[in-house]
Amino acid sequence: MLIDTHCHLTDPALLPDQAAVVHRAIAAGVQRMITIGTGPEDHLRVLQAFRQYPQVYGAIAVHPHLAGEITPGFIGNMRPFFGQEPRLLAVGECGLDYHGRSADAAVQRPVFIQQLELARQLKLPVILHVRDAHADALSIMADYTDVPHVVHCFTGTSEEACRWLAQGAYVGITGIVTYKNAEEVRAVARLIPDDRLLVETDCPYLSPEPVRKIKINEPAFVVHVATCLAAQRGTTPAHIEAITTANAGRLFGPQLK
Ligand SMILES: [Zn+2]
Repeated sequence: MLIDTHCHLTDPALLPDQAAVVHRAIAAGVQRMITIGTGPEDHLRVLQAFRQYPQVYGAIAVHPHLAGEITPGFIGNMRPFFGQEPRLLAVGECGLDYHGRSADAAVQRPVFIQQLELARQLKLPVILHVRDAHADALSIMADYTDVPHVVHCFTGTSEEACRWLAQGAYVGITGIVTYKNAEEVRAVARLIPDDRLLVETDCPYLSPEPVRKIKINEPAFVVHVATCLAAQRGTTPAHIEAITTANAGRLFGPQLK
């Protein structure tokens, strides 16, 4: 069994076809998926998704793109959901994104830190979104090494990956690893130890080869990510499946069964 540890089944590109998307994943051997809610309206759709499909689990947080749009108190108000819903496995995705579409860094940082505090109190792992912001995110996370975390859709350098690994992070690899010009991500994919690697789609974005630009991404295609990782790491897809499923279980806990 493969686990897609980061998908967006509630994205408008997948939502109308959600049941078929989930069933195609199961048929492809992707029998667990964690769907990520990025902001207030999306959170409710995530709750509906995992209540509907036993293979679907959830995580909710405020995405850095939306850090400037939430009302004061919103993060505190997320807390009861976690208490009531054991299938909400993590606080995520949250983090820092300095790439351009997001709020100012000064707005993003306190929203990120509030969510780390929430995760610590709830004793839940965190799914990190970090883009062009590794130095700042690493320095913030240095104070939260007790909070288990994955840097999802890793696109940093090998040196940044080593710093995250040294701080205890798991690293999530998406279909970017299959792209012709993504040599740096392939270098990272080769250096991650067996016990820190996760596979994900981040669908509906980032369709992997050989379906890139042909199909909207969906959890079934995490198989292509695992196949590419096996080739890069000189092992078999079955081994990638075994280690990434074990890692997801360790990070997200026994609820993910
Ligand atoms: Zn995402």
